[in-house]
Amino acid sequence: MPNLSIEIIRTISWMKQHARQARSESRILGFVPTMGALHAGHLALVERAKCDCSPVIASIFLNPKQFGPKEDLAKYPRTFRADSQKLSSAGVDALFAPEAAEIYPSGFRTYVNVEGLSDRLEGRSRPGHFRGVTTVVLKLLEIVQPHFAYFGRKDAQQVRLISQMVRDLNLDTEIVVCPIVRESDGLALSSRNAYLTTEERKAATVLHRALAAARDEIRSGTRDTLQLQSAIQRVLSTEPLAAMDYLEVVDAESFEPVTRISRPSYILLAAFLGKTRLIDNLYIEPAPADNESFIYYL
Ligand code: AMP
Repeated sequence: MPNLSIEIIRTISWMKQHARQARSESRILGFVPTMGALHAGHLALVERAKCDCSPVIASIFLNPKQFGPKEDLAKYPRTFRADSQKLSSAGVDALFAPEAAEIYPSGFRTYVNVEGLSDRLEGRSRPGHFRGVTTVVLKLLEIVQPHFAYFGRKDAQQVRLISQMVRDLNLDTEIVVCPIVRESDGLALSSRNAYLTTEERKAATVLHRALAAARDEIRSGTRDTLQLQSAIQRVLSTEPLAAMDYLEVVDAESFEPVTRISRPSYILLAAFLGKTRLIDNLYIEPAPADNESFIYYL
């Protein structure tokens, strides 16, 4: 293994000391939390963090508390050596990679839950998932106390919940939302794409194609949610390997369903390709100084 310039930190006490030292030197700490199996989506968060901050700290922690009993924790890809090399090459200064027992020692009993927002959409399909996410992210933010923490818009509901938690609990970290990184055929990068068979991988582009159809509908003047949903369903129905889990058009702040698009909104899509569940979304916001047109983030 080539020499790594990155420092790998395994304990909470050392991570705290390391971060405290950087803060005492008035440096701007950036933090990129991940579960490993890193791809270009993760590295784009690092790149953005490097623009704003020095040092940049990443974490790899496969958080057992955000996986349901029937979910894929056991088979989730674990590629620590390759991950640490990628982070090192990307210029990350330190990698926090604790064992599960370090984060959740026996006797652990405290959870944080963002009410309401956690129970819908991903939260309904994956009961308990967001309680696990917000609990671990709160712990990580408390340990590192970064000035900025970077999250992907791919997990739109997740970053909305985390922003709410940071606001509600007065944490001194600014949450930065970064765009979705996609393959050249439109599939959003995800560690779970590794589960797809060749056939499913081809079929998986249907999520992006369906959202692109919705974007085109909006461009040509459609604002009505039902019409947008049927445009999406038309595309999804052309792909027999894809089974929709949910499809909702929601307000970007409340994550409550809307009947018409007029404010910043998300079209959120989750679908099964075989046994693999993938999510994707289209973010839309009104163009400034023009109440007719929208800006699209796909
Ligand atoms: P994960 O390792 O799946 O927990 O993801 C760690 C971070 O990377 C989260 O903030 C994700 O939203 C973000 N992320 C994952 N996939 C992408 C992607 N394709 N584009 C941008 N960010 C992503």
